[in-house]
Amino acid sequence: MKALERIYRRRVPLDTITTPELARSLADASRESGRQVGALVHRSGVVDYVMVGSPSGIMLPEIGRLRAAKGRFRALRLIHTHLFNEPLNQDDFTDLTRLRLDMVAAILLTPEGEPRAMTWAYNIPKPENAVPGTRGYEVVDPVPWGRPQPNFGELIEALESEFTRIEKNRPLDAKDGRAMLIHVGEKRPGAARLAQVRMKELGALAVTAGVQVVDSVIQLRDQIDPKYVLGKGKLESVLIKAIDLDVETLIFDQNLTPTQASTIAGRTDLRVLDRTQLILDIFAQRAESKDGKLQVELAQLKYTLPRLGQKDDSLSRLTGGIGGRGPGETKLEIGRRRARERLERLEKQLKDQAKQRAERRRRRQSDDVPVIAIIGYTNAGKSTLLNALTNAGVVAENKLFATLDTRSRRLSLPQGNTVIVSDTVGFIRDMPKDLFAAFRATFEEARDANLLLELVDASDEEERTHKQETEKLIRELDLDDVPKIRVYNKADRIDPSLAEALGQEPNTLVVSALDHNSLRVLIDAIESRFRPPVSA
Ligand code: GDP
Ligand code: MG
Repeated sequence: MKALERIYRRRVPLDTITTPELARSLADASRESGRQVGALVHRSGVVDYVMVGSPSGIMLPEIGRLRAAKGRFRALRLIHTHLFNEPLNQDDFTDLTRLRLDMVAAILLTPEGEPRAMTWAYNIPKPENAVPGTRGYEVVDPVPWGRPQPNFGELIEALESEFTRIEKNRPLDAKDGRAMLIHVGEKRPGAARLAQVRMKELGALAVTAGVQVVDSVIQLRDQIDPKYVLGKGKLESVLIKAIDLDVETLIFDQNLTPTQASTIAGRTDLRVLDRTQLILDIFAQRAESKDGKLQVELAQLKYTLPRLGQKDDSLSRLTGGIGGRGPGETKLEIGRRRARERLERLEKQLKDQAKQRAERRRRRQSDDVPVIAIIGYTNAGKSTLLNALTNAGVVAENKLFATLDTRSRRLSLPQGNTVIVSDTVGFIRDMPKDLFAAFRATFEEARDANLLLELVDASDEEERTHKQETEKLIRELDLDDVPKIRVYNKADRIDPSLAEALGQEPNTLVVSALDHNSLRVLIDAIESRFRPPVSA
């Protein structure tokens, strides 16, 4: 205890990593305890925490989950002992990057417990177009004890200003968009296959939300871990991978309880979202009418409210970026009290709004270019078809365009007609019930369309055979009085005889969005419906 207390009294000037006195105190405590001993030293020079670990490792205290401001470090450096002359290890690097410490330094001890050398690592900015996996830290190999140390304060200042410069130039949310998908299931027959299917769907949803999926992880367990969902060890490995791949967000396939979400976020310091939040984020991007926006924000708040921690730190985790995006240009309002007030206001506005549907009808009449909406399940190929039809596959990358409207394209037909083709959110399997009103709201444009293309993934047996479900959904979404063509997509992936059989159904076409020639029939079918009036 005495040795530890002495450590707390040490002061370390900013121009050096550590002082001989602090190193000596740490070494003494290590020798007496036979364990690693560490100090978290604040830039002000005081020792904020002293920790005693095991012979081979050390656990840092919860030093606050609040992420350090963008481009800044935590103003704390870890100085600790290594008993067996071993270099810095993965745990050290994880703490360094995860907690954005100023530095992690290890004092390597001789068998007699005297400082022998020091090795240290610090965070460095990754170059703009670094390949995934590029390390975000620099390691300095052990330097014999007693050699001059670099000027710590100057080094950190230079690094921070470099980080700030890069943060400023980084396109907005580019990093927020990097996500890892996680599915955890219970071991039972068919679980592996089901997990694959669900992962595919989740991936498609993520893409729809504009998320860059960097990796996906499936874990089958005897039992879902009530606290961490994944096993604790697995969660650690996910975290290490996430740091390596510069991932900002974990997206879980299963819905998380508020406690699970905050436990995992606290442990990893990453943004944690579940499937419902991802879906809500898609809706938020797609809602267009006032009514739709209200519906979406209402659903978001209802889901988010119980997930707001008492402390303010949930604020940083939820504002902005995926999952924190409100409809339109707004940010999802956060903060318990404000959220509750906003909820009440929204509910009232929605009631008033119900009468104002005429706004929509007016819009439709003022624009006489026919609108064709593509509907169908996620992953059916809606976006691919839209791109193929308009041959405008580049627009998605163009931020300027993206803010206008990514989902509607003008298409000039060979015979001179112009139509607008628009993509929809798409049907989502296992849609959380609470989201239906918001989901419905995103179909307003489709409801006003002149023609629906109901896209079916012909290679997906489930989708092909569950026509009744689709019909029911179309009724519930009020889409049943819009003329419709059923289009089986992905013909390239099915047996030609099946393709032929499907094509026999009335009002049905079979295409492959990847094969431009096959789209001819579709364009012809559209054209025959919107033949221009023969001018006199
Ligand atoms: P959406 O969710 O309905 O918008 O589906 P996407 O357009 O994102 O397509 C989902 C996946 O199906 C993508 O990987 C596409 O490349 C793929 N895809 C789309 N159309 C076809 C097709 O005609 N044939 C094949 N083999 N794959 C396709
Ligand atoms: Mg799509």
